[in-house]
Amino acid sequence: MKFGTQIIHNKHSIDPYAKGLSVPIYQVSTFAQESVDHFGKYDYARSGNPTRDALEETVALLENGSHGFAFASGMAAISSVLLLFSPGDHLVVCEDVYGGAFRVLTTLFTRLGIQSTFVDATDPARIAEAITPATKAIYLETPSNPLLKITDLRAAVDLAKERGLLTLVDNTFMTPYLQRPLDLGCDIVLHSGTKFLNGHSDVICGFAVVKDEGLGKQIKFIQNAFGAILGPQDCWLVLRGLKTLRVRMDESQKSAFSVANWLTQQRRVTEVFYPGLEQHPGYGVHKSQSAGPGAVLSFKLETVELTHRLLEKMECAAFAVSLGGVESIISYPPKMSHAAMPAEERASRGITDNLVRLSVGLEETEDLIADLDRVINF
Ligand code: PLP
Repeated sequence: MKFGTQIIHNKHSIDPYAKGLSVPIYQVSTFAQESVDHFGKYDYARSGNPTRDALEETVALLENGSHGFAFASGMAAISSVLLLFSPGDHLVVCEDVYGGAFRVLTTLFTRLGIQSTFVDATDPARIAEAITPATKAIYLETPSNPLLKITDLRAAVDLAKERGLLTLVDNTFMTPYLQRPLDLGCDIVLHSGTKFLNGHSDVICGFAVVKDEGLGKQIKFIQNAFGAILGPQDCWLVLRGLKTLRVRMDESQKSAFSVANWLTQQRRVTEVFYPGLEQHPGYGVHKSQSAGPGAVLSFKLETVELTHRLLEKMECAAFAVSLGGVESIISYPPKMSHAAMPAEERASRGITDNLVRLSVGLEETEDLIADLDRVINF
């Protein structure tokens, strides 16, 4: 079965109890037990809930993993998975990692004795140089946020396997429809499900997916022990959102491609970052490991004034934090996704004050381009 069919027809398409075409919302915290010696499949809803199970199994299926875990946010998923590591461990992390991941790694996890080195992961040699005897994992985002840099996942996996390290990939921008890191040999896929997976800007959630049984058991233990689980109502909303993932991604990606090409022709736009453009330095690598460039792009404008004007005056895109919704979202990385990163770190990574990120939604492409034209070329 192809992806678009699998998201509609899978083990959880029909409710086994009443044959409804939607998974019921099990709004419960605990489950009655019949025998002292044998508890049923469910006992307490932090450990497991049928609505959450349905979502976790669906996301695992789509990522071609064996176990999926739903968390209360993308950061809860990332932080819970980072609890796999112990004091003295070291991680090599791509330098333009999501600002919240940067923050948690450089504040909370350093306090727990887990250190990270941030590198330009587009060059596998930089990853190799940063590996120390204490390194336990390579943590990647590709395309990265907000500059859409591409990391060669196969090269990173080769390095990781040679040195006995885990490879973690935040697959938020691509979704399993466009990129399946587990199939390329990565060990753990992470998601801010808040974005394209749910797709409607109405739920905060996160996921971790693995193929390996042992890793699955460890993350299950952390999920239950740490307890940052996703509630049943939100699980149901994400299950509903997922059903249109393919069509949403197809439409948004098509539009993003046109918008990116249009932007490259504008005098007041000085740089465009989108892995669907042939001139993007990661174009070839991205094409070899994914099924499309996705629906997020970023670009730099001539001046900071024009940048602010665009952020505040667009009508077909909401000026907001986040991405991956049905509505286009224009955001300002220096003050939003990467505000948690010190200014000098941002500057060294190219996250300048004339940079905007655009997540293309489901508006008509012509309207989006006309809107951008109105604000940029006034
Ligand atoms: N990973 C990426 C790539 C993100 O963009 C975000 C949020 O913007 C996160 C993780 C964190 O997810 P959440 O906001 O759901 O906690």
